[in-house]
Amino acid sequence: MLKLFNTVTRQLEEFKPIDDGKVRMYTCGPTVYWDAHIGNFRSYVLEDVLVRTLELNGFEVTRALNITDVGHLVSDSDEGEDKMEKGAKRENKTVWEIAELYIQRYLENAAKLNLKIPPKPLLCRATDHIAEQIELVKILMDKGYAYVISDGVYFDTSKFPSYGQLSRQKAEDKEEGARVEANPEKRNKTDFALWKFSPKNEKRQMEWESPWGVGFPGWHAECSAMAHKYLGQPFDIHCGGVDHIPVHHENEIAQSEAAYGVKLANYWWHNEFLLVDGQKMSKSIGNVYTINELAEKGFNPLSLRYFYLGAHYRQLQNFTFEALQASQNALNRLWAYSRELEAGGSVLTDIEADFIAALDDDLNTPKALAVIWKLVDGDYPAGDKGATLLWMDKVLGLDLEKYVGKKIEVPENIKNLMNERQKARENKDWAGSDTIRKQIEDLGWIIEDTKEGQKAMPK
Ligand code: AMP
Ligand code: ZN
Repeated sequence: MLKLFNTVTRQLEEFKPIDDGKVRMYTCGPTVYWDAHIGNFRSYVLEDVLVRTLELNGFEVTRALNITDVGHLVSDSDEGEDKMEKGAKRENKTVWEIAELYIQRYLENAAKLNLKIPPKPLLCRATDHIAEQIELVKILMDKGYAYVISDGVYFDTSKFPSYGQLSRQKAEDKEEGARVEANPEKRNKTDFALWKFSPKNEKRQMEWESPWGVGFPGWHAECSAMAHKYLGQPFDIHCGGVDHIPVHHENEIAQSEAAYGVKLANYWWHNEFLLVDGQKMSKSIGNVYTINELAEKGFNPLSLRYFYLGAHYRQLQNFTFEALQASQNALNRLWAYSRELEAGGSVLTDIEADFIAALDDDLNTPKALAVIWKLVDGDYPAGDKGATLLWMDKVLGLDLEKYVGKKIEVPENIKNLMNERQKARENKDWAGSDTIRKQIEDLGWIIEDTKEGQKAMPK
């Protein structure tokens, strides 16, 4: 029985889908104005583990994943520059080029982390759904939930009595983006833009006609419009990072439920943040890393996936390079070990039960990783071990199929270097041993020191 923590009730709940055997879920995706960083990818990897866990439980998952390429303003409220326009200025490109570039980069990085990405149109782009967003705003205007002021069309949160329920904040306690002046024309502090007008003296690169004036959709509108189109309403699970609880998701709920008169989603799933060296990530501290930057430092992107699995999604996780190195080492060991196995046995039922129990307990990925090592250290036939690892990898996504049963032919030159290294180690010449290890690495091989001695495998 799969249990998930539901942000709405703040409780662990048994997961029951609306339609038997099927799950419809929505995951808020990247704003494509820059490369997604390792904090963003913590969300995306853990959402991927959620999808795979649902599949392991036999559900057929329909997932919508949006790409925000318009309307997300730098303040996260409704003021300030559009992140996309800012990215375009920074790189001296058009907004459309920036969107294309960073969509491609996001997809490349997602592939490196073995993320399952839904096919189009479930992978949906905000600017491909302007008509749907205008339609949503029309419904809200017709039903009396929205009003027009000088800079756009706004949702009147006082007309939606349960506003604030997800974050359990009362409207009057809500802070607006600290650095921006509250818009004096808004009826309530928490009201938010459904449609913004283009500035009077400026032509935006992305703007569209609407019944209320030329402009662009507010950031939250896309998720409500696309979720309604591709999943229907209500759907089962809505995901995102915890930062989305108080503004973005609260606003999605208000506009979707006001427009269509039914609940938006039954379960709200939120992952905690990633810190770097104990601090919030920020460009000014210089601790915002991308997948490419880690790769340049010699880390396999899957070591990052392994690292994320090591913390529960509802806990803050602290990134350090030592911790990433430890993950890389563990993964190398797992890959090396997998090569000694065979693939042809059957899945071990006790390990299977432990693994499912860990994941079904609100995605306890650290416990699931521990089950791998229990299997590795256990006394089981090699074929069954191999088959069980491959089965677990359906959720873990650590490329084990590339290793299980693939015995290594180590070339002579590497073998010779390994012998030299062995001699250096016997003479306690650690510096010499490290130099040889580096030489071996430069030739594309990695050395692991195991109980049985040195093991080599291709990088
Ligand atoms: P954005 O592109 O800003 O909408 O963010 C994309 C996703 O990444 C959202 O679900 C955010 O909640 C999430 N996110 C942003 N920063 C972090 C972080 N430091 N740790 C974990 N998730 C994050
Ligand atoms: Zn969203």
